[in-house]
Amino acid sequence: MTEYQKFLETYDSEPIRLMEVCGTHTGAISRNGIPSLLSPKIRLISGPGCPVCVTVTAYIDRLIELSLQPNCVVASFGDLLRVTGSSQCLNDAKAQGGQVRMVYSPMDVLKLAKEEPDKTFVFAAVGFETTTPIYALLLEEAHKDGIHNIKLLTSLKTMPSVIDWVCGNQGGIDGFIAPGHVSVITGSALFRPLAEKYSIPFAVAGFEPQQILLAIYALVKRRGKGEALNLYPSVVTEEGNLAAQDIVNRYFEPCSASWRGMGIIPGSGMQLRPEFAQYDAGSADLIDDHTANPNCRCAQVLTGAIGPRQCPLFGRACTPQNPSGACMVSTEGSCYQYYVNKRE
Ligand code: SF4
Repeated sequence: MTEYQKFLETYDSEPIRLMEVCGTHTGAISRNGIPSLLSPKIRLISGPGCPVCVTVTAYIDRLIELSLQPNCVVASFGDLLRVTGSSQCLNDAKAQGGQVRMVYSPMDVLKLAKEEPDKTFVFAAVGFETTTPIYALLLEEAHKDGIHNIKLLTSLKTMPSVIDWVCGNQGGIDGFIAPGHVSVITGSALFRPLAEKYSIPFAVAGFEPQQILLAIYALVKRRGKGEALNLYPSVVTEEGNLAAQDIVNRYFEPCSASWRGMGIIPGSGMQLRPEFAQYDAGSADLIDDHTANPNCRCAQVLTGAIGPRQCPLFGRACTPQNPSGACMVSTEGSCYQYYVNKRE
């Protein structure tokens, strides 16, 4: 056992709450039993880092509506197909004749659009800073190849504003395990202003158990200090991937975005620039966030206000096979991870 592992296991000072804001970290923490290696005084909380989970119901409803329009096909990653909107999910729409295709990459839509030029393909463009460059690349390729039957329904989110929201509204977080994949694109410097504003440490971490433990150790040691650390230097730099940032800025601009459980957060999303409006499938004003099941606690789970097991539906009416809420659908969702890995 390393010195820092021993420290984390035997820590007996003031209780500390740390939040991870990346769905992949949530998965790695749960899968590897990281909480069981920590003193009970160190508590890990999952934050709003799963893109499917934070997508509002109005967005799902709009996708369903589009899939039922003549000559319109909705293309999406698989997990989004199972998220319920105000009453149905995309798989339900498909069963009723809606045109829905599951794809593994946004770039798959290029081939589909070429093969079926009489149809309009709408890609469900959800994601954080990591995924947005791929959507920009899709539009660049479509433009280059003269393909005009591709559109995006965007629900693109950015990390800093939602972390700001959590710190300002939820509070009680003593440090953040900052997202490794997002930081590859944005650079680790992204988190410095937040660290300084709230005097909270941030540690950009990789996804191996040792990397996560090291980040937790660094955060505990730096409690109360407004520092942003890069503990994933093999792939993350201070300034990030400038080519990816460049292509994103060519096609997208910041906007307010609607989040499940948090409402509208100014500056927390990305939308197509006005000069590319022809690629937009009607993404504006998708703000309705009422849930089909009034007992669902996804909103509180996403903000770290409660843990997944505190939801009355957890493991009963809501399981990965039969999910009631978005957090149980995606493999990046907190509820899914807590259920599958029996995390307490
Ligand atoms: Fe939502 Fe299901 Fe999690 Fe409850 S257990 S918060 S309904 S995903």
